[in-house]
Amino acid sequence: MQRTTKIVATLGPSSSDPAVLNQLVAAGIDVVRLNFSHGTAEDHRSRMDNLRLAMSAQSRSIGVMADLQGPKIRIGKFADRKVQLKSGQSFTLAARCESGDATRVGLDYPELVDDVAAGDVLLLDDGRIVMDVVGIADDEIRCTVRHGGELSNNKGINKLGGGLSAPALTAKDKADIRTAAALMVDYVAVSFPKSGDDLRKARKLLANAGSNALLIAKIERVEAIQNLDDILAACDGVMVARGDLAVEVGDAAVPALQKRIIRTARERNRFVITATQMMESMIHSPIPTRAEVSDVANAVLDGTDAVMLSAETAAGEYPVQTVEAMARICLEAEKSADTSLDKQFLDRVFTRIDQSIAMAALFAASHLKVKAIAALTESGATALWMSRLDAGVPIYALTQDVRTRYKVSVFKGVYPVMMGQTGHNRDDLLQEAEEQLIRAGAVKPGDLIVLTIGEPIGTPGGTNTLKIVQVGDPVISDQPT
Ligand code: PEP
Repeated sequence: MQRTTKIVATLGPSSSDPAVLNQLVAAGIDVVRLNFSHGTAEDHRSRMDNLRLAMSAQSRSIGVMADLQGPKIRIGKFADRKVQLKSGQSFTLAARCESGDATRVGLDYPELVDDVAAGDVLLLDDGRIVMDVVGIADDEIRCTVRHGGELSNNKGINKLGGGLSAPALTAKDKADIRTAAALMVDYVAVSFPKSGDDLRKARKLLANAGSNALLIAKIERVEAIQNLDDILAACDGVMVARGDLAVEVGDAAVPALQKRIIRTARERNRFVITATQMMESMIHSPIPTRAEVSDVANAVLDGTDAVMLSAETAAGEYPVQTVEAMARICLEAEKSADTSLDKQFLDRVFTRIDQSIAMAALFAASHLKVKAIAALTESGATALWMSRLDAGVPIYALTQDVRTRYKVSVFKGVYPVMMGQTGHNRDDLLQEAEEQLIRAGAVKPGDLIVLTIGEPIGTPGGTNTLKIVQVGDPVISDQPT
């Protein structure tokens, strides 16, 4: 059995060494995430160079995601780097404070003063510190500390319930989009989008920079939940960014939202990544907690395309063991996933020819119990549609386009296979498709496969033909043998 759920690993100091990266590739990562909240363009470039070496050494296709920082609002610095806050004490957030102490600290977003009012609740450092706003005076936010603790330099601030006005794309994000385009990344993740417009702006900036990377909307604001339909219409995939989402909506609301986001994204033909604290304890421990095992398995059963590792692989002590454990948990959970396709088909609406062929291929594959589905695809769209439902049959995306080979690596149950042919002769392509599948160990002569192709050859979005073939046999068959 091969794993269908994909693993996204964030690269950082713990995984920059070429030897470690090689082990991560061998352990089964499918996508790497370059976190633009940390590191320089040069750090990202050197990690990508190392990744390309590891990929070619192991003949693997791994997609690369640039994750933009977005308008994360942060406090300033303290004179002594950190302070201890006591529950019940007063504390002030003041844009003009240069150097903080136990009574006040600066802000990197002075406009926060206009976004909050007495009665609002502010969550600092991912919700570890909670403050009630008691009033606004002289451009300062006066608070009472509800839950105290240690607060150190530059920690993030969220407002419970959302409502922060900061635009999704900062000047840094715009510069980082150009860097990401130059690095030829496959996906760009936009942090804190509120609506489809934020994604449309990002896509325009990307196109101007010469990139057609797939766009991921990180769902981490209350407004993003309210505008989920609009966001899904404007992006290619979403990330359930549970860290910031939990502090905006309250942690207890996140599990149900995760299920809803995954289900809705798949219904709208978008891919979805479930992120944050999935194996958090493995930052310092060689084994996961029981709760983490259940969390990863439940995301798989919810139907996520991919599960993501953040600090576990970027800064943890056990990056390789974490990926190995995650792969093992996904594989086991997949054994009990629902692959009864007929039920999944019930509410499916499709009007496009290529999408209808993709659905027909799935239906035939599941009923004939074929060995594999082979989608000859220019853009990867056919493979994406097929992977929105789970037929329990592996989908091989056979492509002549090297960028498509990387892009499909995040889709659940889709495996990229590179085609050498650059010509447009249909019979040659079909012949090569079979040979490549045999070479990849996906099928053997005699196996039944479902093939989709667009005719005339070479038109993106032109898939219009479904063939059911026995490997090694040119005769079209409609019967399993
Ligand atoms: C999150 O908030 O869960 C997330 C994935 O975003 P980041 O790691 O950029 O905070």
